[in-house]
Amino acid sequence: MAATCKSCGAPIVWIESPKHKWIPCDEGLIPYLEDRSGKDAVVTQRGEIIRCRLAFDGEPTGMGRMAHWATCPNADQHRRKKA
Ligand SMILES: [Zn+2]
Repeated sequence: MAATCKSCGAPIVWIESPKHKWIPCDEGLIPYLEDRSGKDAVVTQRGEIIRCRLAFDGEPTGMGRMAHWATCPNADQHRRKKA
């Protein structure tokens, strides 16, 4: 589902999580390496938010998207990630 961010106007897509929550994500797909101790987080194409690394060597685990609240220049207007 394509849309634009109401606060910064960037193109976003809404991804439905397995728990039927809608997550605003950046449009572009990025490769990630799944890593439970990684410092990055990515939204998979199944709508799961997982810990990962976005800078890595080797084959990616898959392709996902950044949650838009992590990249929006007006992120304060979005729900913040838990610390
Ligand atoms: Zn935005």
